[in-house]
Amino acid sequence: MKIDYQLKNAENRRTEQFEPKEDIGFGKLRTDHMFLMDYKDGQWVEPRVVPYGPLTMPPGAMALHYGQSIFEGAKAYKHTDGEIHTFRLDMNASRMNHSGSVVCMPSIDEQMQIDAIHALIDVDRLWFPEQDGACLYVRPFVFATEDHISVRSSKNYTFCVLLSPSGAYYKDGNNKAIRLLVSEQYHRAVSGGTGSAKASGNYSASLKASETAQTYGASQVLYLDSTNQYIEEAGAMNHYHVRKDGTVIIPEFTDTILKSITSQSILSLSNQLGFEVKQETIKIKDFIEDVKSGEIIEAGGFGTAAVVSPVGSYIFENNDVITVGDGNVGKYTLAMYTLLTDIQMGRQQGPDGWVNLVERKA
Ligand SMILES: *Cc1c(COP(=O)(O)O)cnc(C)c1O
Repeated sequence: MKIDYQLKNAENRRTEQFEPKEDIGFGKLRTDHMFLMDYKDGQWVEPRVVPYGPLTMPPGAMALHYGQSIFEGAKAYKHTDGEIHTFRLDMNASRMNHSGSVVCMPSIDEQMQIDAIHALIDVDRLWFPEQDGACLYVRPFVFATEDHISVRSSKNYTFCVLLSPSGAYYKDGNNKAIRLLVSEQYHRAVSGGTGSAKASGNYSASLKASETAQTYGASQVLYLDSTNQYIEEAGAMNHYHVRKDGTVIIPEFTDTILKSITSQSILSLSNQLGFEVKQETIKIKDFIEDVKSGEIIEAGGFGTAAVVSPVGSYIFENNDVITVGDGNVGKYTLAMYTLLTDIQMGRQQGPDGWVNLVERKA
């Protein structure tokens, strides 16, 4: 499908490279344009790049009432040659369709999703923040627009992509170890539910849990399965831990765990990392014992925004605390962070097809 470019006038557009002097935060800023495409009469139509601005939709739009809405998250990186590259967008595109299938939405051609993102980045490339560790955060999302009040799947949808010029997630590359609240009270997902989808409702359902975590001085919740036996996720990140022998372990993907592209990348990079990375079902009881005994020496979360978020300690609902290793960022965590960011930044060669140039077309 041919993309229609309806661009801002030259005088309303950024004309110079964005060189922020201050911290621009994460997810706050927007670029000049967005990508839109609509689903009506059983097909996706009118792919277009338009000025960023408010969307009009009827107050009865079903996304607003029943939360039929999904999203993705990715980053674009600038290499030292000045060219912008994306990382494994094919994985985001297929996960978008997985999420869509979970909440009964029509699928979107995966190449079309990638083309849409590249077209938008190309148009707004001057918005790439010239700052250490900065990126263009990419947020594609789909929501139900049919004006209809009763619970069923919508007949109409909009696919939108916006870009957010964002600073380094951790200032000074300083991934400080965080604390997680091990919660037996809150659960992110249940078997048979929507946990494997990036469906908007999952995240509104998680707000209470993360606000509670903060009252414990923790940044996020370590979610257990609904029987409180197994480790699932660390907030909106996959969880990992490292054993004394250097094996990295990620919980087995089930329908209550979101398949992180960061986790899957680290799993594929085991050889290049020089240590084993594998998936297991992990009993929280064993995990706690092994942290206490020193058998587990590092832990953390995997996700696009932070890449790796090391966890230094866990607090329980009775206020007990356990510390992982010495509570600081360990060498395996650092090695995973370094290799993955080096591949994303083009400083190291990764597997074929992971890093893709955003061509200059517009
Ligand atoms: C997005 C997300 C992740 C991380 O996935 P990445 O593809 O690595 O960004 C993990 N868990 C949840 C619940 C998520 O929403």
